Parts: sequence; structure tokens; C-alpha cells
Amino acid sequence: MNYTIRHYWTKEDIVAIYYNPLMELLYEAATVHRMHHDPNTVQVSTLLSIKTGGCPEDCGYCPQAARYHTDIEGNDLMSVQHVKAQALRAKASGSSRVCMGAAWRNVKDGPEFAQVLEMVRTINKLDMEVCCTLGMVTENQAQRLAEAGLYAYNHNLDTSEEYYKEVISTRGYEDRLETIENVRKTNVTVCSGGIIGMGESKEDRAGMLVALSTLDPQPESVPINALVAVEGTPMEDEKPVEIWEMIRMVATARIVMPKTQVRLSAGRTEMSREGQAMCFFAGANSIFAGDKLLTTPNPDVNQDMEMFRQLGLNPQKPFVKAPQPETIEALDSKYGTMGEKPRWSRPGHKIERNELAKERSKLAPKE
Ligand code: SF4
Repeated sequence: MNYTIRHYWTKEDIVAIYYNPLMELLYEAATVHRMHHDPNTVQVSTLLSIKTGGCPEDCGYCPQAARYHTDIEGNDLMSVQHVKAQALRAKASGSSRVCMGAAWRNVKDGPEFAQVLEMVRTINKLDMEVCCTLGMVTENQAQRLAEAGLYAYNHNLDTSEEYYKEVISTRGYEDRLETIENVRKTNVTVCSGGIIGMGESKEDRAGMLVALSTLDPQPESVPINALVAVEGTPMEDEKPVEIWEMIRMVATARIVMPKTQVRLSAGRTEMSREGQAMCFFAGANSIFAGDKLLTTPNPDVNQDMEMFRQLGLNPQKPFVKAPQPETIEALDSKYGTMGEKPRWSRPGHKIERNELAKERSKLAPKE
């Protein structure tokens, strides 16, 4: 096995790795992991939902989509002070990264974006890595985030290009790739991964890893989520992902993207500590802390610290993988608003389970 980074993986290569006998797969993944990372260090990130619910998109897994009836409580954009207080709390409990998520289709220039830029400046000044996930961004918007001191931008591919059409009808895969390209034109690192357990095939999982691993450079961070099936969403009846599938997915991601930070993301509440320990052995080296992951449950931070103690793991310090970006104040910004009207696609094909969930939502009692 050649352990250098390669960018020409095929679906067949990746399916073959995924189906290796488990002990072989684990051995190989752990070997690659140790060549590029400290196996006893795991990054702890905190995910903050800075604007919750009311999203116009139709992602079949998401309780924040306005068109489905879920018990999510929506919130307007948080204040900078509130975000700062949460970031300080996260730092005190061992997080080195704050990821801020807003339920938007894409970033719109204006006062809300200016407020997010101020949040980025504020957290970067706390010496924490700042990540944002705000939907599609133009190159100009990515540059402004970079100037504010953004460390990473998250934009998940979610699944393979083929299966994407079964999950979302309000935007295309090429929009996702374009946003990643826009972020790549700046010094902001890329975080992009996906979700397993949405009814996709193993080939779709491999297809997603092909799409990620053939990017050059590969994303610095790849979250692997297990679907949390939320009542009211089109995927409410999907069966939970078996831990073995999660371990195989993490191990395969580690082998094809050796230097990437592989994140064990949503779905950890369903995993035993033994299962999570195997994921760390297979190459996962980041978790999200806090009792909520945007809107779905997550283990309590004290339970995670207890797990770290049991496993002899240490939280990763900030800026180990890339230097801390400089923060440029709004008044000194080189990049003003360009008044762009980007034409992100809207395929609009019908996805039966999404349509059914929308219909069910119309029948649901109004609060
Ligand atoms: S995943 Fe993001 S874009 Fe999709 S519905 Fe949820 S908040 Fe909106």
C-alpha cells in the first residue's frame, strides 16, 4: 500500500477498501493515521446554531427546513455578545474550535452578513479556530470571511452526486462544488463531508469519498455524520446506522484522505464508548462537543471528557494544522459588497419522500 496522498481514487477502489475484512481495514487505517497525526489527540469543536430554522431548502434529513413539520424552535440571528459568551464557555470546557451554523440557502450581503463577520472577528480574537457554515458563498463573500479571520468554511457534499438528487431538489451538486472552489481561492481551510444512513448504497458512500478525495487539495476537514432521523422530516423512518458502517466509513475516509481531520459528527448519542473508541482507532480525530448539534442531541461535554480520560486522549490545541489567520477590521476591509446576484441553481425535480413530508406538514396541527 502506498500511503502518499493521491487524487485519482475511483469508486471501485474505494468500495474495495470499504469492504476489506474489518481487521485489515482497521490496521491499515490506523497505520495511515499514525503517519500523519498524533493518535492520542482529538480535536473538540463546538457547534453553535446562530440562526435556527425557517430554511427555504428541502434537504430531506434536516429538521430546519421550513416546509417540514418538526418541533424545532426557530431563532433569528444571535447577537455578537451572545456568541462571544458561548464561545468563552466552549473554550473553558476544552473546545479549540467554534463552528457557527446559520440555516440559510446562501449568504446575502447586508447587515446580517456584517454581523456574522463581526462574530468571526470576535472569536478569532479569543484564539479559537472559527468555522462557519452559512450555505453557498461567492468568492467575494469568502474573501470577506477570510479577512475577518475565518479559519474554516463548512459546506458538506452530503452524499454522492447521483444520490444527491434523491435528497435535495432546491440546489445542485455543482453549487456545492462551486462554493468549495470559492473558499479555496482564499486562505480559509475547507471542511466538507456528508451523512450516511439516508437510504444510500455503499457505492454512493464511495461516490462521496471520490468527490472529496479527488479535490486538490483535499479538504482539511471531513465530517462523517450518521443520520439522526427526526420526526416530521422525509427521512424520519430511516433505520439507525450500524456502528460497523460508521467505523468502516471513518477508516475508508482516513485511508483516502491521510492528512485530513476526520470528524465523528452527528449520531454519537447512539454510539457506545467502545464504538467511538474504534472510530478513533480507525482515524477519527475530531468530535463535536455540547449537548446539541445544531438541533439534534449530542453527548454532554462532561461525558466526553470522561471518555477522553478513559481512553487517554488529549484535546487538540487550536491552530496545530494551519496558522491562526489575521483579523482585519471592517473599516480596513479591501473587499466591499459587490451587490452580486449569484445564480445558484434550483433543479426543482420532485423527490417523493420530500413531497410526502411537505404534505404531512400541511395536515399537522398549527401551534
Ligand atoms: S441542511 Fe442547511 S440548507 Fe438544508 S434545510 Fe437544513 S439548514 Fe437548510
